[in-house]
Amino acid sequence: MTHVTKEELEAQAEKTWAEIENKTLAPKERLAIPQQEMPVQAPEVRKHNMNEVALGYSECQARVEASRCLQCKNAPCMKGCPVAINIPAFIHEIAQGNYTGALGIIRQTSILPAICGRVCPQENQCQKFCTVGAIHKDVNQSVAIGRLERFAADWQRAHEAEAPIDNTVKPATGKKVAVIGSGPSGITVAADVRREGHAVTLFEAFQTPGGVLVYGIPEFRLPKAIVEKEVQGLKAMGVDVEPNFVVGRTRTLHDLMAKDGYDAVYIGTGAGLPRFMGIPGEELVGVFSANEYLTRANLMKAYDTADAATPYYPAKRVAVLGGGNVAMDAARMAFRLGAEEVYLIYRRSRAEMPARAEEVGHAEEEGVDFRFLCNIERILGDANGVVNAIECLRYELGDPDASGRRSPVPIQGSEFTLPVDAVIIAIGNASNPLIPQTTEGLDVDRKGHIVVDENQTTSIPGVYAGGDIVLGAATVILAMGEGRRAAKAINAYLATKA
Ligand code: FAD
Ligand code: SF4
Ligand code: SF4
Repeated sequence: MTHVTKEELEAQAEKTWAEIENKTLAPKERLAIPQQEMPVQAPEVRKHNMNEVALGYSECQARVEASRCLQCKNAPCMKGCPVAINIPAFIHEIAQGNYTGALGIIRQTSILPAICGRVCPQENQCQKFCTVGAIHKDVNQSVAIGRLERFAADWQRAHEAEAPIDNTVKPATGKKVAVIGSGPSGITVAADVRREGHAVTLFEAFQTPGGVLVYGIPEFRLPKAIVEKEVQGLKAMGVDVEPNFVVGRTRTLHDLMAKDGYDAVYIGTGAGLPRFMGIPGEELVGVFSANEYLTRANLMKAYDTADAATPYYPAKRVAVLGGGNVAMDAARMAFRLGAEEVYLIYRRSRAEMPARAEEVGHAEEEGVDFRFLCNIERILGDANGVVNAIECLRYELGDPDASGRRSPVPIQGSEFTLPVDAVIIAIGNASNPLIPQTTEGLDVDRKGHIVVDENQTTSIPGVYAGGDIVLGAATVILAMGEGRRAAKAINAYLATKA
């Protein structure tokens, strides 16, 4: 596929804008405008750098894209958004050139639009239900809601002085809230609870706050400066951020409440425990969980060979096992850490892959070699215990399983070997067990997820939980949505406490 440059895409949009700017468009005319493509770095260039791949819409592109919206009365897109952003209203403001107004509407329900606009799996959420996509019978022709959300948030960051975000905090209430974990759910709770005037401490196990947004999702998809800005915003509101603080080790949850005087606690500790296959060879040097691999690269900047806090593992041929966003991130990161060949091994076919369609497309463009319908049977090593190959088995699709996806069935005798220098396992994460293990009376289900009611209340009065620790590995917007619900419940609970 030929790469269309940012300049070419912007020039096309300017032409379209000149034609439609002063017209009242009929629905038919709106439908005739094609979805505005997101400008991206060229694949051959970007696979060797850590800069963001997607470059963002220009004002003209955003206004043309916003002009495609039919302003549906029943707004089916909103039903696909877990936090029900008023999508037609914010898109209307962008079409009018009122970007601050657009952001104000988005922020009524979502406090992380620059992040969600970049990483939400929109094709399965808001955009899946868009009327424009339905009329074209192609979800890729839906109004690009996520890109417009990102545009409004980026515009505000670039014009902060003229359009500051209102982070007013109510007078001090004398109540204290501990938020454990600084991922999207913890950040949301900290902001919403602090706004009510309560003192908030955000405890984070790692040295850098942000959760998976900083240590999991790579810089080339989500620049860390954006997450840092959100954390700075919290600090400016008066939230006390305590990094390198592991609740359950440094202090238990019961200590926080009984000894340190916290009136309420929110647990947003995520799903950071990597799963392994349990196959021969997983103990070899050169086998990583995707968590470890991405954390080394993101948080410890392993790619920065001069100043890295941790050395990166040099590997020319890398195999990644899995089909989700984490697998896609690890595969694309491998190129950026110097790999020449990257195989993505997935047991099912492309249609069953849970990763965002855009990430799969980007990985493909960058040269990831997808090996569908196969799985790793064992990892082979040399005399020094270092990985040198994987043995795989081919699969075919059988009947649908409980998830509705067709089950992979192994084809006996179809083994083959691929020489590789590193293997990255990206088959999912389980809940962090430390807090449930060290907190008497905290109910968890058989998967280790904390059990909550519809207000995110746990089995302990005054203790709330949300995000991946409740849902299992989920999404940023769902974690944020749970944080919002929990914050509302915490504020209501504290209002009744003397
Ligand atoms: P997390 O983001 O996991 O944050 C939890 C925080 O709690 C961490 O910082 C952790 O260090 C801290 N913590 C844990 N235990 C303790 C303790 N005892 N004391 C103190 N702190 C503690 N979702 C999307 O929507 N789109 C994507 O494209 C996407 N890509 C992803 C790519 C990767 C590589 C990964 C791993 C996940 C991805 N996700 C994506 C999922 C998404 O990031 C998570 O669903 C989301 O971050 C969950 O938020 P959270 O606040 O529940 O927890
Ligand atoms: Fe769509 Fe996510 Fe934005 Fe909701 S938050 S409108 S799902 S991109
Ligand atoms: Fe606009 Fe699509 Fe939502 Fe209709 S469904 S209001 S066209 S974004």
